[in-house]
Amino acid sequence: MKRIAVVGAGMGGLSALHTLANAGCEVTVFDKSRGSGGRMATKKLNAASWDMGAQFLRSHSNAFRLQLAHWQQQGWIETWPIVPDRIDHHGIHTSEDDVQRFVGVSRMTALCRQLLTPAHEFHTATRIISCTKRVDGWMLSDEQEQHFGPFDGLIINTPPEQAQPLLTASPTLFDHPKPDMLPCWTLLLAFDLPLATTVNAAFVEGSPIAWIARNSSKPQRDALQTWVIQADHDWSQERVDSPREQVQETLLAAFFDALKLPSQPCTEIWLHRWLYAIPAAPLEQGALIDQAQQLAVCGDWCHSASVEGAWLSGQAAARALLES
Ligand SMILES: Cc1cc2nc3c(=O)[nH]c(=O)nc-3n(C[C@H](O)[C@H](O)[C@H](O)COP(=O)(O)OP(=O)(O)OC[C@H]3O[C@@H](n4cnc5c(N)ncnc54)[C@H](O)[C@@H]3O)c2cc1C
Repeated sequence: MKRIAVVGAGMGGLSALHTLANAGCEVTVFDKSRGSGGRMATKKLNAASWDMGAQFLRSHSNAFRLQLAHWQQQGWIETWPIVPDRIDHHGIHTSEDDVQRFVGVSRMTALCRQLLTPAHEFHTATRIISCTKRVDGWMLSDEQEQHFGPFDGLIINTPPEQAQPLLTASPTLFDHPKPDMLPCWTLLLAFDLPLATTVNAAFVEGSPIAWIARNSSKPQRDALQTWVIQADHDWSQERVDSPREQVQETLLAAFFDALKLPSQPCTEIWLHRWLYAIPAAPLEQGALIDQAQQLAVCGDWCHSASVEGAWLSGQAAARALLES
């Protein structure tokens, strides 16, 4: 049985895990966080919770469409039957958007937890800092000087900044410029009472905000009125090191302004800065492969900037290790 290590339990790594485990491999997964999902994170604060990263899943490819149908059949995702509005300087407009959107239930990370099931072991809070190829296979070390391995194959599923130091055994794999990742300031709000608006989600133009979602309009969410506000990527880039209070105040004011509502007190408020939110220009290569070393790198930045892109990239990485 082939033993494979996967570094990073985002959708890319989970997708690879699934294919490798189905093919009979023994897969060990590592993540520096306390759980799985990466940028499909859920934030919990007292009685409130929000999908803090990816807001919904949608498909462009037939393969992912079939995968979504399977997850829906398993009860791991449900459709989010809303039509996002469009907000601009002139006001709030309904849209003709007919995209079918899905969400993990009862939160995005619940899907990721299901996808982890075939893992032989899942090492949480384990930041891998080096990957070395020996004659008997790959050895991994974390920052607490724990050592893992040997493994017959290795998949790295981290953003490019974090992948590069792990690829010293295969320097040519990364011989093109590292793709830039754009930041995103994200504001999470909870209210005791519903806001007086019909908006459940909206794409916003001409504002510091790019996206607003009533998280509590998603299926199987909490009773509290929860909202997710995502800032525009360029706006976030220009303010990536601005004081948090200043960013929070601006986004809060822009939120009420966009919804044409008077400001009102919230019961919970949380601001998160995603430093590596989405790739500015994904490589569109599927995955980076070094077949001779049984090494593959996957993630949205290798394919396309979405959960679907990460999933397809994970598939490509797994297939490459199985083919060699
Ligand atoms: C605010 C925001 C909103 C978004 N909205 C959407 C949306 O609505 N729909 C959509 O399709 N996509 C959306 N995306 C994009 C989507 O979330 C990502 O494309 C996708 O989740 C990326 O998955 P991934 O597996 O490539 O990487 P990640 O999810 O980033 O996974 C990488 C994992 O690697 C771990 N890691 C990193 N370094 C190490 C290390 N040294 N050792 C161990 N572990 C490590 C990290 O903890 C992380 O869990 C959004 C992203 C953000 C941030």
